[in-house]
Amino acid sequence: MPDAPVLNLKSLVKDLWGVGRERAAQLHRLEIFSVEDLLFHRPRRYEDRRHFLSIFDLTLDSAATVRGQIVAMGLNTFAKGRKSVFEIVVDDGSARLHCRWWNLPYMENYFRTGDDVMIYGKPNSLKPRTMDHPETEVIEPGEEVSIHLNRIVPIYPLTEGLPQRWLRSLVWRTMEQYESLLKEPYPEAVSAGYPEFSNALHMLHFPEEREDTDIARKRLALNELIALQQEIQSRRRRLELSATAMPCSGDNRFIKPFLAKLGFKLTDGQTKVLREIRHDLGGEHPMRRLLQGDVGAGKTAVAACAALMTLESGYTVLLMAPTEILAEQHYRNFKRWFEPLDIPVEFQSGSRKTYFSHDRPCLVIGTHALVQEAFRLKMVGLVVIDEQHKFGVSQRESLVRKGEYPHLLVMTATPIPRTLGLTLYGDLDVSVIDKLPGNRGRIRTYVRTPDKLKQVLAFIMEKLGEGRQAYIVYPRVEEDDTDKDVKAVKGEFNKLALSLAPFKTGLLHGRVSSEEKDRVMTAFRDNKLQCLVATSVIEVGVDVPNATVMVIENAEQFGLAQLHQLRGRIGRGEHDSHCILLARLKTDEARQRMKVMEETTDGFRIAEADLELRGPGDLLGRAQSGLPPFKFANLVQDLPLVEEARRLATQRLNSK
Ligand code: ADP
Ligand code: MG
Repeated sequence: MPDAPVLNLKSLVKDLWGVGRERAAQLHRLEIFSVEDLLFHRPRRYEDRRHFLSIFDLTLDSAATVRGQIVAMGLNTFAKGRKSVFEIVVDDGSARLHCRWWNLPYMENYFRTGDDVMIYGKPNSLKPRTMDHPETEVIEPGEEVSIHLNRIVPIYPLTEGLPQRWLRSLVWRTMEQYESLLKEPYPEAVSAGYPEFSNALHMLHFPEEREDTDIARKRLALNELIALQQEIQSRRRRLELSATAMPCSGDNRFIKPFLAKLGFKLTDGQTKVLREIRHDLGGEHPMRRLLQGDVGAGKTAVAACAALMTLESGYTVLLMAPTEILAEQHYRNFKRWFEPLDIPVEFQSGSRKTYFSHDRPCLVIGTHALVQEAFRLKMVGLVVIDEQHKFGVSQRESLVRKGEYPHLLVMTATPIPRTLGLTLYGDLDVSVIDKLPGNRGRIRTYVRTPDKLKQVLAFIMEKLGEGRQAYIVYPRVEEDDTDKDVKAVKGEFNKLALSLAPFKTGLLHGRVSSEEKDRVMTAFRDNKLQCLVATSVIEVGVDVPNATVMVIENAEQFGLAQLHQLRGRIGRGEHDSHCILLARLKTDEARQRMKVMEETTDGFRIAEADLELRGPGDLLGRAQSGLPPFKFANLVQDLPLVEEARRLATQRLNSK
């Protein structure tokens, strides 16, 4: 006699009782291969079949479930047999309901007159009561009434040919068989008042009450979030176990003269962050710190001070920027700041390198090509990554993993909503600069339709006449025939240059050579060009305080985070600034985005709005974000769960 098969969550669904070849193939199309996959197949909605609405009480356009008997049915074909409508008429004693399916003649095979049937849908007419393409389930006499009726039943995502009832029965049988095998993965969660895992799965599929489904969802989301937090935290702990830090807190001999000549006093926020950084640089473990501060908050000066502490201690510093333009700008600033202190400042990017000997500590600035360099250079005490969101988690990881462990300071201007921050940067300590330096003019934002361009140009002329400078940004380098409504820099540049004469206009986009980029940026910075026509290459970091006008054409093409970054290029000096968004407001989403921009300059509010409007995957790019695909967790709403998971993961790691 063969052994009885061992029950195991990894067992394949194709080996389950009642699952033949065809059904197995259908389940596979739903990515259900193992018993575990099946039990995690999340219902897309629930139907309360303890009470049905009477057909008489149906209202227009609101979804409801009714139950009745098929009293008539028929298939009509027309347009020479190319089109059809199949119809059933259902009566529940209160009224009749017509259900219609267009061009699905095979529907006829699923029903017989006299069948007891449940219908879910929205009436699109009440005279007579009609639903088009509702969901239906025929009640088979005597069969598994307790699963499909008189309870809240799950409605699953399906695939062609797979019946709802069959899948529901399979889940039911499998739950019964396996429920006792489901081990509690996180007893901490149970102690914290959440239901047991097996119970949560049961409630997910076969809730007793409506609220059960929410409780179940939260518990299962918590599992996902604890797993992630545990991974993040153990990574951090491994680092602390294996790496001792280089002592880099310095002795003030560079910082003092640097601050004296800087031309402004550090804000309280900057000073506070520097204290935290100094503490880390002198600590036992390498620093892993995220510095968050809205655009214009003054992160560069903080980075400079951190670099000086490290240099004072005799170690080299790397500073990485996401774009060449930004790297060049840093190079220029740091040279001006550091060379009087006799500190060598070097530049390394894909297209340009200064050649230098490594015989004394220096500051090396470059694009992310420097990530490679980081492991060739000796005595690197600190790595600063500017504008982190452009790098992506994986690149940061590659830095953290390889051999030596310099201190790491990650700076981001993208205000990250807290849920995402805890998830993406959970392994970093966080410092925040929450106030901009006080010497800034106001930024006003206006949303206008594209036909106002002429007036906008006149406004630019006026501001240029007052001695200020302006940016005009387009979503594209070149026109694209598929969407003629979206303008491109190349097409517009000549026209603009003419309109804005005698003022001088420069052109900048991703396909311009490095030398040309450098030349244009320098000219703009020196006010030899008064207007810069560009794509979003100027999105991050560019710092020209005299530029006070930002015009963005086809603003609807940009995401909120990007618009906020672009607007961050102005409002950096003492003069008031103006941001004009020329937008085609064809969708609600676009309208909402523009409204948010008009209403606030607060990066955090914008980030929250962005997360709500677009969801986390989009916000960061799924691949780049390094986030696992969650089935139950929802980063837009689940801040309390993320915090709970973080706490429970810590508790769990501490008890090991
Ligand atoms: P971000 O945080 O966006 O990188 P920057 O470091 O580029 O901001 O700083 C924006 C501007 O503010 C720069 O011109 C910088 O010189 C100036 N700045 C920085 N800190 C201060 C301060 N404490 N007081 C006045 N201006 C400051
Ligand atoms: Mg910056």
